[in-house]
Amino acid sequence: MEITLSPLESSLSKTFLTSIYQVNDGGNIRTCLQCGTCSGICPFGYIMQYPPGKMVGALRTDIFDQVIKTDSVWMCVSCYACTEFCPSDIPITAGLMTRAKEEMVLAGNIPTELQSALENTQRYGNPLGESPRKRADWAMGLQPEVNILGKTRQPVDVLWFVGDYASYHPRMVSATKALAKILDALGIKFGILGPEENSDGDSQRLAGERGLFEMMTQKNGQVFKKYQFTEIITTDPHAFNALKNEYPSLGISYPVKHYTQFLAGRIEQLKPLLKKTIQTKIAYHDPCYLGRANGIFDEPRDLLKAIPGVELVEMSHQRTNSLCCGGGGGGMWLDGFQWEKAHTRLSEWRVREAVAANADILAVACPYEPPRFEDAVKTIQTASHLKVRELAELLAEAMDL
Ligand code: SF4
Ligand code: SF4
Repeated sequence: MEITLSPLESSLSKTFLTSIYQVNDGGNIRTCLQCGTCSGICPFGYIMQYPPGKMVGALRTDIFDQVIKTDSVWMCVSCYACTEFCPSDIPITAGLMTRAKEEMVLAGNIPTELQSALENTQRYGNPLGESPRKRADWAMGLQPEVNILGKTRQPVDVLWFVGDYASYHPRMVSATKALAKILDALGIKFGILGPEENSDGDSQRLAGERGLFEMMTQKNGQVFKKYQFTEIITTDPHAFNALKNEYPSLGISYPVKHYTQFLAGRIEQLKPLLKKTIQTKIAYHDPCYLGRANGIFDEPRDLLKAIPGVELVEMSHQRTNSLCCGGGGGGMWLDGFQWEKAHTRLSEWRVREAVAANADILAVACPYEPPRFEDAVKTIQTASHLKVRELAELLAEAMDL
């Protein structure tokens, strides 16, 4: 496509705009209305020196070099709110913000904590810096034994892509075990990759490390080819997003579902197994990469409503207008940096919303969230009664597993 730029769009601005035009719908950036919706809805827009709308303005006036001299873009948690509400359908999250982060990475203007997560991913295949050999340790002692495909080489119906935090994070292991038990109770023939699984790489991509994302994609793609399975399920919405929307453009394409979609598809089989009553009010937090980015709002709610005794309450930000937990787009590895700038965390805002909705439990379906929200609960006096539960933990409890 021939790109016509105004005389003002020279040098860095020109190169940068050209790269945005290559992103799906990237050319729409020409039609920015400067309405400010993106900057207004951005959870950290108030603190960014260059929130997205102003960044477009900087491109138009050829002062983009000033944008990358600031560290404004590292406040972006890739939550997709700006993209969702932009009246000109500009791919702000995937285009403008992610490309800006790539420029920052190239310029070496990158917070140390993020740098270390990226180095860990390159070295160990996960951002936590854990040994790949320990990736299936969470499954030790579980009965029936979890099928690690590299050991058994058995064909399965479902390849469960467990993911980084669900495999390693001490808070998440109980939820991961719960999901394994649920799959067993439903009679699903599933297997995991264990030590052969690498990070899905999606959050690293959105944090500006496209090369690292492609490396993870190729490694996972090579492993997928070794085994026979019909479909993939993921614990992590970021992995779901990568496998569904990003891996196919690199030639790796399989049917994929988030585990909440997969279970909701079997809800009639599940309902008779949900025997225990959990008398409680639950607020469900829509993860950005399940809800806003991929339109999965009802399935997790349907699963929660199927638990006897559960009353679902809604928080003020919900569904397409959900509030990010702060972990996406590298936010998981920018807590210190963002705290210094904002002196607040998005997870704390969210916990306050759950309290305002009179919830007893904040239910989540993304492995970034339990540790983030539990930390937030500890800092908010009025939230001391609030429990944070992964959806699989709640289902397993109701199934008495
Ligand atoms: S919401 Fe869209 S049209 Fe409005 S300022 Fe932002 S990028 Fe431009
Ligand atoms: S993706 Fe979210 S955090 Fe990033 S600029 Fe858009 S609204 Fe702000």
